[in-house]
Amino acid sequence: MTRRQRLETLFAQAAGYIDQQTGGVVPAIQPSTTFVRDENYQLLRDNNIYARDDNDIVRLAEKILATAENADDALVFPTGMAAIAALMRTVPAGETILMQSQIYWGTTKWVREYCDRRDIKLIEQDTSDTAAAVAAIEQASPTIVFVETPSNPWLRITDLQALAEATDRAGGVLAVDSTAAGPAISNPIDLGAHIVMHSGTKSINGHSDVLAGVLAIDDENRALWEHIKVDRHDAGAVIGSFEAYLLIRGMRTLPVRMERMSENAMAVATYLQGHDQVDHVYYPGLESHEAHELAKKQMQNGFGPLLSFTVKGDKQRALDVVGKLNLFKRATSLGGVESLVEHRFTIESTTGIPETLIRLSVGIEHIDDLIADLDSALS
Ligand SMILES: *Cc1c(COP(=O)(O)O)cnc(C)c1O
Repeated sequence: MTRRQRLETLFAQAAGYIDQQTGGVVPAIQPSTTFVRDENYQLLRDNNIYARDDNDIVRLAEKILATAENADDALVFPTGMAAIAALMRTVPAGETILMQSQIYWGTTKWVREYCDRRDIKLIEQDTSDTAAAVAAIEQASPTIVFVETPSNPWLRITDLQALAEATDRAGGVLAVDSTAAGPAISNPIDLGAHIVMHSGTKSINGHSDVLAGVLAIDDENRALWEHIKVDRHDAGAVIGSFEAYLLIRGMRTLPVRMERMSENAMAVATYLQGHDQVDHVYYPGLESHEAHELAKKQMQNGFGPLLSFTVKGDKQRALDVVGKLNLFKRATSLGGVESLVEHRFTIESTTGIPETLIRLSVGIEHIDDLIADLDSALS
């Protein structure tokens, strides 16, 4: 599927959707789980049997996302983790997964336990070190290389083109968790990646009221895609009609939201970098970021809502700052219109997260209010 419209147009118009029965410009929610056959036992529509796979509003969400990612096909799942699990379940016992180290903790935890149970060899590798990552791929010939860029919460950037080439040579599949950027900012398939994954719960929905996951693929003829489709059907990891409706409703404003969030996040990062109580700011939009040039090549229209910083002092000082914030709500997750703050060490104390690290998801509020909130918490 090649994108003919710019992303703003594609999302605003929900890929040109018009309800054929009513002329509505918004998709109807069809809650039925099952579809009748006529007196000759023929289906009224041959791709409508049972809602596990046959759901028009889910199909519409998938069409929008596949088009946005320049993908051949896309599947929507009930959560991001369900999408990751369906992907990982394609790997047979005895083979190897190479996963980026220090990424979203939920992924790390699940994949570790899964590989353990399945007798799959797991290599955890810092893929932002391109030379080391390419060498590890060449040496291990992994079935799946799984990376997250920008990574959560370290904001590390992985060179997708270099890793796609190495993975191709090794005969594997490069899968990219692109949640922190989203389809309005980064399109990994254009850079050679084979699979793009999103937690739709985050910026794609953008209103903190839907759980969803996405996989999109560069070539639907890959055996792995058939395996994933069968797995979603058989294991039943499907999203409901109401959630798919909300996901599409949220997606219509995705490019506009991302633009504002990125602008705000850049301003917050710049402000924090100049603050004498702040030790280090992790944001790929900053020229001081270790991979700023690479990020500029891989991301368009901004650098996303996610940023982390460390404060001077100790764990208590970080918790004090977090506790004094008013507008930034103390809650996990990211990519919603409201700004959130997290003390990640409290959640994952064994993964090397500094005690003084504060993670922000910057929303679409007025930037002056956000800076004022940070200013009073830090002083
Ligand atoms: C939240 C998140 C996930 C998991 O998504 P859920 O929808 O919560 O299952 C995966 N990857 C990243 C980077 C995330 O932020």
